[in-house]
Amino acid sequence: MSHTLRDPYEEAKKQLKESIEILGLTDEVYEILAAPERLIRVRIPVKMDDGSVKVFTGWRSQHNSALGPYKGGVRYHPDVHEHEVIALSMWMTWKNSLAQLPYGGGKGGIKVDPHKLSPGELERLSRKYFELISKVVGIDEDIPAPDVYTNPQTMAWYMDEYSRLKGFHAFGVVTGKPLLLGGLYTRIISTGHGTAVAAAEAAKKIFGGVEGRTVSIQGFGNAGQYAALSLKEMGAIIVAVSDSRGGVYNPKGIDVEKLIKIKRETGSVLNYEDAEKFSSKDPLYVDADILVPAALENQITAENADKIKAKIIAEAANGPTTPDGEEILTKKGIVVIPDILANAGGVIVSHIEWVNNRMGGWLKEEEVKARLEEKMTHNFHAVWDFWQNKLDTEKYNMRAAAYALAVKRVYDAMKLRGWI
Ligand code: GLU
Repeated sequence: MSHTLRDPYEEAKKQLKESIEILGLTDEVYEILAAPERLIRVRIPVKMDDGSVKVFTGWRSQHNSALGPYKGGVRYHPDVHEHEVIALSMWMTWKNSLAQLPYGGGKGGIKVDPHKLSPGELERLSRKYFELISKVVGIDEDIPAPDVYTNPQTMAWYMDEYSRLKGFHAFGVVTGKPLLLGGLYTRIISTGHGTAVAAAEAAKKIFGGVEGRTVSIQGFGNAGQYAALSLKEMGAIIVAVSDSRGGVYNPKGIDVEKLIKIKRETGSVLNYEDAEKFSSKDPLYVDADILVPAALENQITAENADKIKAKIIAEAANGPTTPDGEEILTKKGIVVIPDILANAGGVIVSHIEWVNNRMGGWLKEEEVKARLEEKMTHNFHAVWDFWQNKLDTEKYNMRAAAYALAVKRVYDAMKLRGWI
C-alpha cells in the first residue's frame, strides 16, 4: 500500500510548520514540538505455540505533555514503523488539545500481523509489550487505548498486566476496556459515531442537511462500521464500502447492518452479494457526496486527489490525506474535516471512561453519548467559525484552522508552565 512509501512524520512536520507560521510563533516552538519528548523502542520476545521464540519490535512515542498525561492508542500492524508512531503521537497532541481534554499526546505500535497469531500468542505479546513500557505509562502519566487491530480484549490484558506488576487495580491505566472491566459501551461506537456527527454538521453547512446524501467509506474496521451505521441512522445512503481485501458498490444503497454481520462472520465485505465488487481504494473515487476514509494514512495524495468527487471528506482515519493531496482538494473546494477534529470521538469518550474509572464507575451510558455528541458538535463549530471568520479561506483550509487552535493551546500551556 502506498502509505509505506511516504513518511507520515515528514507530513506531520509540514502541517506543524504551517501552523507555527499562521500563529507567528518562533522556530524554537517548532523545535520543541517537531519531535517527541520521549520515544521508547522495545524488543518483545514471545514464546510461540510451536515452542519457538519470535522477537517483535514495539514503540511508545510520548510527544508532548504540556496539557497533561500522554494519551493515545496502540496499533498492531505489519507496516508499523518508528516514524509512523511518532507522527501519530503528534497528531494525538493536537487532537487532545483541540478537544480541550486534559491530555498530551502519545501513541504506540507493534510491528506484527495480529491475524497470524493465535489468541495465546497475541496475549503473551500484549502482556510483554505492556510490561516493557510499564515504567513510562500510568494513570497520571500515559494512558493507552485501542487503535488499528487492537480492541477491548487487548486493553484487558494491558490493564491486568499493569495491575499485577504494580499490586493494585489500575483500571484507569488504559481506556477502551471491556464493559465488565470499567469500559463504556459508548467508547466502542465513539470514533465512528463522532465522525458521523461531524460529517452531518458539515453536511448542514454544505447541503442543508445529511438526509438523502450519499456516503462512501474506505476501511470497515471499528471506525468505518460505526460511522456507516450512524450516518445511515441520520438518513444518509451508504453507497460504497471497502476493507483491505476489496470493496462493494451499490448506488441504490448498501444494507449496513447486513454488511457488518458479513464482515464479522466472514472477515471481508466482499462476501456481500447485492453489490458490484471493486478494489480497496475505489470508494475514494465514486460519485458520493461524503467520503469517509477510515483505513490508514496517506490514502489521498497528489497522485489521486484529482479523482475525488465528494464535496465533504470526514477523516475517520488518522492522516489519510497528505499535505500535497490536500492542496488539490482545497483548490477543488472540497471541505476536509481533519482527522484531529473528525475522529476525536474515540479519545473524547476515553476521557469520560478514565474519569468514570477514577470515580468508581458512576456515569450512565446515556449521559456519555449525549456528552460525546455535544462535544463533537461544539468542536466542529468552533473550528468552522474560526476558519470562516479569522482566516483567509482562499488560502487556508479547515485543517489549518484546527491546527492553529490546537497548537496555540499547547503553546499557551508550555508558556504557563515556564517551558518557554
Ligand atoms: N486510537 C484512537 C485515536 O487515534 C483513540 C485514542 C484514545 O482513545 O486514547 O484517536
